[in-house]
Amino acid sequence: MSEKNLKIGIIGAGIQGVCNALFLQKKGFQVTLFDREEPGSAASYGNAGHFSPYASVPLNRPDVIADVPSMLISSRGPLALKWNYVPKMIPWFARFILNCRQEKMMHTAKNMHQILDLSLPAFDELFEEIDLDGLVENNGILYVWTDQNMKSRELEIRIRDQLGVKQQLVNKKEIHDLEPNLKPFYHGGVFYDYARHARNPRKILIKLFENFVNKGGKFLKLNIQDIDFDEEKPVLRTETQRFIFDKLVIACGAFSKRLTDKLHENIPLDTERGYHVHFKDYDHLISRPIVYANRGFGMTPMEQGLRVVGTVEFGGLENSPSNLKVSSL
Ligand SMILES: Cc1cc2nc3c(=O)[nH]c(=O)nc-3n(C[C@H](O)[C@H](O)[C@H](O)COP(=O)(O)OP(=O)(O)OC[C@H]3O[C@@H](n4cnc5c(N)ncnc54)[C@H](O)[C@@H]3O)c2cc1C
Repeated sequence: MSEKNLKIGIIGAGIQGVCNALFLQKKGFQVTLFDREEPGSAASYGNAGHFSPYASVPLNRPDVIADVPSMLISSRGPLALKWNYVPKMIPWFARFILNCRQEKMMHTAKNMHQILDLSLPAFDELFEEIDLDGLVENNGILYVWTDQNMKSRELEIRIRDQLGVKQQLVNKKEIHDLEPNLKPFYHGGVFYDYARHARNPRKILIKLFENFVNKGGKFLKLNIQDIDFDEEKPVLRTETQRFIFDKLVIACGAFSKRLTDKLHENIPLDTERGYHVHFKDYDHLISRPIVYANRGFGMTPMEQGLRVVGTVEFGGLENSPSNLKVSSL
C-alpha cells in the first residue's frame, strides 16, 4: 500500500487534533477525526489566546522550587492544589522536581525553542486557506512585573538571550505608552512585538475544522473508550463500534493519558487546570494580551470581552471546578 493511501485516525478535535488533521490531509492521507464533544470544546476554547513562540523557558526551573511553598500558601498566588489529589500527584511532582535542574531546564528550553520557532509559520500555512476575519491580531504580547525583586525575571531573560529569542525589555514609561489604561503598579516588563493573539480561539478552530471537512475529512462524534491492536494495526473502540486504522494520533489533551495507559505507554502526563472569566465590553481597554508574570494571570482582549485567565491548579480530571471570587471592573 502506498503511504498516501494510509488511513489515519485522530482522537481529539482540539487545536492539536484539527491542525494535525489538516497537515496530514495536505500530505494526502485519509484522515478521520473523533471527538466525544463538538470540536473545540475543551482547553482549546478556554485559553488565553496567545500565539507565543518565545515561551521556551519551562516551568521546571531551579528557582521555582524555592517559590512554590509561598505560591501555594497565598490565596492570591498563581498556583493552587486540590488537596485530595496530592497523593496521586506525588510521582509526577518527584519527576517535576528532578527536571528543575539547570541542565534539564536548558535541555527542555532548547528543544521547546526549536519547536516553537516553527509554530507561527505552521499556523500561517493553515491560515492561508481560511478567512480569519480579524480573529488574529498582531499587536504583540506584554509581560509586566509588579514585584521589583523577582528572581526568575533575570533567569528567564538570560535564557531567552542565550537561545536567541527576540525580546524587548520595557520600562514604566514604555509600558504606559503601549497600554495607557493599565494602572502603573508595575516596575518593568518584556514586550514580544512579533507575538499574536486570538480574539476568539474557538472560532479560529471551527474555521480550520470546517476547512478539513470541506476538503473531504471525516468527523465522528464518538467517545473512544479503548485502543488495542489487530495485526499491528490500531483499533479504536467505542461502546458499540470498532474502527481500524493504519496509524493513530492521540490528541486528547489532558485526557490523553487515559488512552496511552491502555497502550502501556508510561507517559508522565498530569493536568494543569486553569480558569477564565469574561468582562463583557471591556476589551477596548487594552490593545494586546498583558500578563502579570509574578501573579500568574493575564488579560486578553477578545470578542467576548476582556478575558482574564489564570491560576495553575493541580487537581486531576475528576475534581469539580474551584469557586472563583471575581470582582466586577
Ligand atoms: C487557562 C488556560 C490558558 C491557556 N492559555 C494558552 C495560551 O494563551 N496559548 C497557548 O498556546 N496555550 C494556552 N493554554 C494551553 C492550550 O489551551 C492547550 O495546550 C491546548 O488547547 C491543548 O489542545 P489539545 O488539542 O491538545 O487539547 P484539548 O483542546 O483539550 O482537546 C482535546 C479533545 O479531546 C477530546 N477527547 C478527550 N478524550 C476523548 C475520548 N476518549 N474520545 C473522544 N474524544 C476525546 C476532548 O473532548 C477535547 O475536545 C492554556 C490552557 C489553559 C487551561
